[in-house]
Parts: sequence; structure tokens; C-alpha cells
Amino acid sequence: MLSLGLEGKVVVVTGGARGIGATIAKILTDLGAKVACLDVIDGEAPEGGLAMKADVTKLADMEAAAEKIEAELGPVYGVVANAGITRDNLFHKLTEDDWDKVIDVNLKGVKNTIQPFFIKMRDRNDPKKEGPKDGGSVVAISSISGDRGNFGQTNYSATKAAVIGMMKSLAFEGARFQIRANAIAPGFINTEMTAKIPDKVKEKITAEIPFGRFGEPEEIAWAVAFLLSPVASSYVSGQVLRVNGAHHT
Ligand code: NDP
Repeated sequence: MLSLGLEGKVVVVTGGARGIGATIAKILTDLGAKVACLDVIDGEAPEGGLAMKADVTKLADMEAAAEKIEAELGPVYGVVANAGITRDNLFHKLTEDDWDKVIDVNLKGVKNTIQPFFIKMRDRNDPKKEGPKDGGSVVAISSISGDRGNFGQTNYSATKAAVIGMMKSLAFEGARFQIRANAIAPGFINTEMTAKIPDKVKEKITAEIPFGRFGEPEEIAWAVAFLLSPVASSYVSGQVLRVNGAHHT
């Protein structure tokens, strides 16, 4: 029987209380991982894992989470920087607050999420050190908006394009430590985030998607499982995996 090799691996998922994050947590748990869900809202602890409140905009929250998760679940192997928000508006109407909030969560939040865990993973996997090494895998959830832009999302698209650059650079830095860094760029996915889109706009978007439908959170979660897998994607780093129903750039 083949396996993705995620059994017993500790994986952190931000924005894990609902939507894509909660589905990622469920599928990784079903694949045998021990998952820590971090969110600003209350969420259910996955079986064998934990749920805790942590705000990705606060580095201190993420540092505390790293300590707690490693003490309770063991050394972290995988990080999924999934928490994200939208504050959509046409560029000429965009307020400073719309801009700052989105940059804070979607860009600084990704850095804050990954850094405390990356420091520990890097230290454990230092080639100069003795001891077992299992590398690591970091996945940032970008977006089709970062890839090809989207009307009314200059702030959001800027952050989602930026995390692609961040992962490509981190892939260079992590390589010597067997830590891989990749991004996933989902197309439009059915969650509370897209439930806010007015029906008329949804119809217009759907007409442009060759698959003729929005994606489901499970379709992103399986892509995450692939990129985390030390078996299936062991030579994949610095890449962007587009999961968008052929909604090309
Ligand atoms: P949801 O809004 O359904 O879920 C996101 C979760 O992240 C919420 O629980 C949210 O809490 C939480 N969150 C928000 N801010 C923070 C924070 N500062 N710290 C910790 N957690 C926070 O979003 P989706 O599941 O749809 O999206 C998940 C990711 O996928 C996001 O990065 C999004 O940009 C990206 N994405 C989504 C697409 C889609 O079509 N749905 C398409 C492409 C990318 P709260 O309720 O308080 O905001």
C-alpha cells in the first residue's frame, strides 16, 4: 500500500477553524498527520491534534504557538500559511485601512506564521549537526488574484503575488536544510470568503472558468497534502501550484 508519508508528522494550519483551512486540517488528519489549527476564531481540535487561538498579525502569538505545539505534539514538519482576508474595493476608493489590514494579515501574517517554525526546522536539519533529520515543507496559500490580478482586489492581489516571491526565496534558503517552500494559487473556491460575492458577479466569474464551476475546499486540501508529502513532492520547491479549473493566467 502506498502512502504520502504524513503519518505522525506535525503540521500547523493557520485560519484552520473554517473554510479551506478546516478542510486542509481534516484531510491531513485523515492521512495520519497531527494537526495544530490556529485561528482568531474558535475551532475544533482535529483528532490527535490541537486548536488554539493565535493572530497571525502578531509575531508573539506565533512564537508562543510554536513553543506550545512543539511541547504538546512534537517537532513541526509542515506549515500551511492559509489565514487570509479580503477588503475589496476599486483602487480609487481603497482606504488606507483596507490596504493596511490586508497587507498585515496576508503578507506580514505569512511571514509571522512561517518564521518561528522555520527557525526550529532549520536548526534541527542543520547538516553540520548530528541526529535524525526529516526536513520540512512550507506551503503558502496564494490566489489566482496574485497570479493574474482581479478587478477590485489591488490590495489582496498585491499580497498574494508577494507571497509567491516569498516562497521562491525561502526555497533557496531552505534547500540546504531539506526544507521545501511552495505556494498554491487557488481559483475561486466555495467558502464563506466567496459567499460574499454578489450572485451576478459570481455568474460572470463562473462563465470565465473552463470547468464551469467554483472549486471545493477539498480540491485545495489535496494539493496541500501533495506539497507537504515527503514522498510525493520530495524534489518540488519554489513552485506555484495552480488549482483553478483551467482558469489560466
Ligand atoms: P475564510 O474567510 O473562509 O477563512 C479564513 C480563516 O482565517 C477564518 O477563520 C478567519 O477568521 C481566519 N483569519 C483571518 N484573519 C486571521 C488572523 N489575523 N489570524 C489567524 N486567522 C485569521 O477563507 P477561505 O477559507 O476562503 O480562504 C483561505 C485562504 O485561501 C485565504 O488565504 C484566502 O485568501 C485563500 N484563497 C481563497 C480563495 C477562495 O475562493 N475562497 C481563492 C484563493 C485563495 P475571521 O472569520 O475572523 O476572518
